[in-house]
Amino acid sequence: MMLSKTYGGCHCGNILVEIEFTRAPGTYNPRACDCDFCRKHGASYVSDPQGSLLVRIENERDSGKYRQGSGQAELLVCRNCGVLVGAFYSSDGRLYAAVNAKIMDGQVSFGAEQSVSPKQLTDGEKVGRWQDIWFSKVSLVHDDV
Ligand SMILES: [Zn+2]
Repeated sequence: MMLSKTYGGCHCGNILVEIEFTRAPGTYNPRACDCDFCRKHGASYVSDPQGSLLVRIENERDSGKYRQGSGQAELLVCRNCGVLVGAFYSSDGRLYAAVNAKIMDGQVSFGAEQSVSPKQLTDGEKVGRWQDIWFSKVSLVHDDV
């Protein structure tokens, strides 16, 4: 299995992500969520349940977590530069996440975006979907603690 590392982050560098995808980037179709929040950020999400995600936050005070919709997931936004980094959901001490495909460094060519509408799912269906398709190997590192 080929593991390629992909890097990204917010604009100012406060939040960095390091991702291990298990397939070629072109085989992932970023999911453009149609909720008002994600639409206004132009966000679309990539994740790989077999891959891994490391999120490094330099200054916790400058990272904002925002809840919207049913409030089950947290959206990580850099307060310093305003970039939406990704969505997180924790359950039973386990952290799941999907990353905004637009925050990758350099040329990462994902597949075509697909439109998704999680707001049409029930709360239980949403959680089940996140646990199926989001990263489940997620590490969150704070440099300032
Ligand atoms: Zn930033």
